[in-house]
Amino acid sequence: MSVAHYFDTMDYGPAPEADGPARDWLRRHEARFGHFIGGAFRPSAEGGTFETREPATGKPLATLASGTTADVDAAVEAARQAQAHWQKLGGHGRARHLYALARMVQRHGRLLAVLEAIDNGKPIRETRDLDVPLVAWHFLHHAGWAQLQESEFAGYSPLGVVGQIIPWNFPLLMLAWKIAPALALGNTVVLKPAEYTSLTALLFAELASEAGLPDGVLNVVTGPGETGAAIVEHPGIDKIAFTGSTEIGRIIRETTAGSGKKLTLELGGKSPFIVFEDADLDAAVEGVVDAIWFNQGQVCCAGSRLLVQEGIAPEFLMRLKRRMETLRVGSPLDKAVDMGAIVDPVQLRRIEELVAAGIKEGAVAHRAPVALPEGDGSFYPPTLLTEVHPSSIVAREEIFGPVAVAMTFRTPDEAVMLANNSRYGLAASIWSETVGLALDIAPKLQAGVVWINATNLFDAAVGFGGYRESGFGREGGREGALEYLKPDAWANRRPREATPPAEPADGGAQGFELRAIDRTAKLFVGGKQARPDGNGSRVIRSATGAVIGEVGEGNRKDLRNAVAAARAAESWARASTHNRAQILYYLAENLSARAAEFAARIASATGTDGEQEVDVAVRRLFTYGAWADKFDGAVHSPPLRGVALAMHEPIGTVGVVCPDEAPLLAFVSLVAPLIATGNRVVAVPSERHPLSVTDLYQVFETSDLPAGVVNIVTGGREQLAKDLASHDDLDALWVFGSKEAAAAAERLSAGNLKRTLVDDGLALDWHDAKAAEGRIFLNHTVQVKNIWIPYGD
Ligand code: NDP
Repeated sequence: MSVAHYFDTMDYGPAPEADGPARDWLRRHEARFGHFIGGAFRPSAEGGTFETREPATGKPLATLASGTTADVDAAVEAARQAQAHWQKLGGHGRARHLYALARMVQRHGRLLAVLEAIDNGKPIRETRDLDVPLVAWHFLHHAGWAQLQESEFAGYSPLGVVGQIIPWNFPLLMLAWKIAPALALGNTVVLKPAEYTSLTALLFAELASEAGLPDGVLNVVTGPGETGAAIVEHPGIDKIAFTGSTEIGRIIRETTAGSGKKLTLELGGKSPFIVFEDADLDAAVEGVVDAIWFNQGQVCCAGSRLLVQEGIAPEFLMRLKRRMETLRVGSPLDKAVDMGAIVDPVQLRRIEELVAAGIKEGAVAHRAPVALPEGDGSFYPPTLLTEVHPSSIVAREEIFGPVAVAMTFRTPDEAVMLANNSRYGLAASIWSETVGLALDIAPKLQAGVVWINATNLFDAAVGFGGYRESGFGREGGREGALEYLKPDAWANRRPREATPPAEPADGGAQGFELRAIDRTAKLFVGGKQARPDGNGSRVIRSATGAVIGEVGEGNRKDLRNAVAAARAAESWARASTHNRAQILYYLAENLSARAAEFAARIASATGTDGEQEVDVAVRRLFTYGAWADKFDGAVHSPPLRGVALAMHEPIGTVGVVCPDEAPLLAFVSLVAPLIATGNRVVAVPSERHPLSVTDLYQVFETSDLPAGVVNIVTGGREQLAKDLASHDDLDALWVFGSKEAAAAAERLSAGNLKRTLVDDGLALDWHDAKAAEGRIFLNHTVQVKNIWIPYGD
């Protein structure tokens, strides 16, 4: 072909990246790899292997060890042995290692980028320009957190050995997102890469070892889902960090329930891409290209649901289809392709099946007129589905392929409704030239990340993670670092001693004294006292066994009403922080005015010093009044002209189950931080000593607390905890009480993946401000939403 020919056709010629060094690396290892454990490759204990293939050609690439329980045992043992030394190295010591890893990635950038493209099928343009630089930046950023650990995370310690399981869509980047914070903060790691894409993790581990990372600090065990399950179940692991499908995330939530393992889940998404009629349409069209055809659409935060305002929909879709005509699909190593190969024939079939199901439901498919490479590779053309109904399978399910589905909306409210009409909540993209409109919509979207006039932007300093069934926990930034630490103030908690049942006091002259006027405390729901649904009540006894009253016996239906009341009080989330602060101070004032009465209640119920407990409870309310307008988010400066606002948003409706000790103080300590940040609460007070709490409704009523913000349902803790955990309209659940209730709460919360905070039956000293108040709780009351706002032209 002559230059003149290319000039005439304006066609691209092939521009392949050399793959020699990557193929040499495979040859050096005879295309056979063991697990990387304790600083060296080791075959699988039981000799099992599996084959990994090249998505673009279907040809075998290498044979890998298939991890069993014995291999996971060996990896955990190596990680455990290394952990104490790694922790002792201190922040600066670890910062040097993290810095060395960043430099190592930069030095071997080309090799890593090429191997990633071969192994995953993604274009070299993306691995070279995006994945690898972001990986290096992630290690550099976390070298910084290691360096600052002693000052910025004073009072926190590493968790220990962390098990990490990653998917195949961004193998190296997910590895970095997982291991950089874990290692920086003093943990050691057992990592399982995805079966389809293990090679860059093995290369990384080998290079890291050569760069001086001590043996056992990073261990890589390859294998199928069962290997991941063996990591999840291993008793020697202190935390699981998982990225992958919501289905497996749910299984992991259930498996780890009650184990005391910390858990973060980064799961699927079906993210909306909203185009308003005043958007820069050409920019938005380019946005769609980056949102859904980047990485062949195999992106958890892909803008896969295109929501276009009705008036511009025909024009916008016409421009989009025109742009699709210029997209190129080809060999991942070709530097001039837009899309490479789908990771595996299994995924390709899944995409084909979902698209076929969508068409059957009435969708119209527009495929880019591209020539797909011939041979045994897995390729799928960029696809747009129009005429899609919001209830269609393609509008609901994650296709995880290069397929956008388009729908229209009329008003901004309708856009928000459609956008939030999903069980997921990972990301969203808003396109409008009106800053007021975009900034009004962003907080209304249920998503952990919102990009304004942009999409798929990532930065190590800006946390990433989901709402709802997209999982919980964040990766990146300060909030991501905290996921790998535990508070020292909670280190010495001991299992709560079982309280003997309150025995009725001896008969004798009892019953012949002048008794107090009978009083049965009711439930408190939606700002009103409510009789329990079952009309039952339970007798409450004093420390000496005398009957001191009765409380309503709440059940599942009462909880349902309470959750509905809490949902209806949604405007509390939008109340000004000043307003919330004022009400918390007012609660303190009114509790203080009745201190003697509450103290006497507590003393008679528990036999402890009620005065002191009320005094600390008043102080605690003051503390959260103080925090209400100070627990702010942050403004990040990622590498673009613009900012990312890390907003603290309330989680929503939260169930709180209180322990028996310090009944009033524990209740206040758990409920006050939640309402300070805008959550609404359904609280189950101490089962044994509920009366000091049931009286609180009078304090609420005199303190301007809006109806439904705090609801109280008394009754049996274990059953109510389970009922709350299985309630799908509750966003989070805190259980402080027994180990059994904690385990059940975590297990049953898997249904809607609600966030949980449990004490595993370990008692907290509620009088100790270090352990029982402040950020230690506040951090669990919010989810961080990062809103990216580019500015300038
Ligand atoms: P999975 O959730 O199955 O895989 C993610 C990781 O978990 C892999 O390393 C996998 O191993 C491992 N794993 C599988 N089963 C278990 C288990 N029981 N316990 C512990 N670990 C396990 O995702 P798939 O790869 O099967 O993809 C299926 C769908 O999930 C996709 O089509 C997409 O919709 C979604 N997905 C979402 C991702 C995201 O980033 N949010 C990423 C990947 C997929 P192995 O690879 O060996 O199966």
